[in-house]
Amino acid sequence: MRERFLTFGAPLIGEAEIDEVVDSLRSGWLGTGPKVARFERDFAAYKGVEQAVAVNSCTAALHLSLLAAGLAPGDEVITTPLTFCATVNAILHAGATPVLADVDPVTFNLDPAAVAARITPRTRAVLPVHFAGRPCDMGALMALAEHHDLRVIEDCAHAIESRYDGRPVGTIGDFGCFSFYVTKNVVTGEGGMILTRRTEDAARLKTLALHGMSHDAWRRFSDSGYRHYQVVECGFKYNMMDLQAAIGLHQLARVEASWQRRRAIWARYQAAFADLPVIRPAEPDPQTRHAHHLYTLLIDEARCGRTRDNFLDDMTAQRVGVGVHYLSLPEHPYYQNRLGWRPEDTPEAMRIGRQTVSLPLSPALTDADVDDVIQAVRSDIAR
Ligand SMILES: *Cc1c(COP(=O)(O)O)cnc(C)c1O
Repeated sequence: MRERFLTFGAPLIGEAEIDEVVDSLRSGWLGTGPKVARFERDFAAYKGVEQAVAVNSCTAALHLSLLAAGLAPGDEVITTPLTFCATVNAILHAGATPVLADVDPVTFNLDPAAVAARITPRTRAVLPVHFAGRPCDMGALMALAEHHDLRVIEDCAHAIESRYDGRPVGTIGDFGCFSFYVTKNVVTGEGGMILTRRTEDAARLKTLALHGMSHDAWRRFSDSGYRHYQVVECGFKYNMMDLQAAIGLHQLARVEASWQRRRAIWARYQAAFADLPVIRPAEPDPQTRHAHHLYTLLIDEARCGRTRDNFLDDMTAQRVGVGVHYLSLPEHPYYQNRLGWRPEDTPEAMRIGRQTVSLPLSPALTDADVDDVIQAVRSDIAR
């Protein structure tokens, strides 16, 4: 058994990130400034778009996008039950009503037919999550959105590198929201980014992210001289700091190398578990590019002879950190009480949420770490 506990989702931090953070600290400019502006330009260039708006989390990105989409109280937003709670909390914070549609059992992504069945006269938006980095069926979802005049907000927290029919995800809907949380594919500690096609939406997002102060208020202390600002609406404190962007600049420069490494580990897991009674993820659709953010197995007690939670405990005992992405959202008491959700109403997400386990999939893993994970799984699951 390995000696050191293998932390799930530990990031790969290089000397360049460390030096850049130190440079920010020495410069005295820690807050929103030139490095955030550079990170926005670099991210936009990576995604092949004109503009990007940095914020301090993907949760903030989702909240502001929903506000900029013009949602009003009573408006319904259709999303997936197989996501992090932030997705649905952002809809509630925006004053709208989340409505769940079940996922496809093969892709774990929103099933467009289930979305169509949940559309009502009050539906205003769809919020797909590209689960594990596998792109949603954007062709079908965009067709539905067009037909019913819905806004589309893509939750791309897992999907920085993903493409659908050659197009980067997050550039297909009206808004694309990204996360740079510590376990994500590019990290800034905490951080997020919003892509939007319309210049007026980008300007509104920037204003909302910094107290509702007029555009570029962060420059008020720069060497170009003090500038007065005007508060034009009641905004939020969602701006990214230069300290965070300092990390992100170098993470982003390595995004493709990190993706290649995770893709290779993902492929090793796929081959190593082929003969086990676990259910492995479907291979990526050749029309798409999978970001390989998560590698998930389903542990069905009837097939594997043990429960998912037994498996989690055994992996931890073997010093391999594991994750669960995710218990379906209707399993949580808050949503049951406030919205009347029941897990049985989205049965595919319920089943996946009760069987799924995420194995370590970080570019920081050595080949020996990957061997240890494979061995721990194989010793736990009888063939
Ligand atoms: C991580 C995550 C979020 C939230 O991201 P933060 O940057 O931590 O706010 C939202 N949605 C999904 C699917 C996530 O995995």
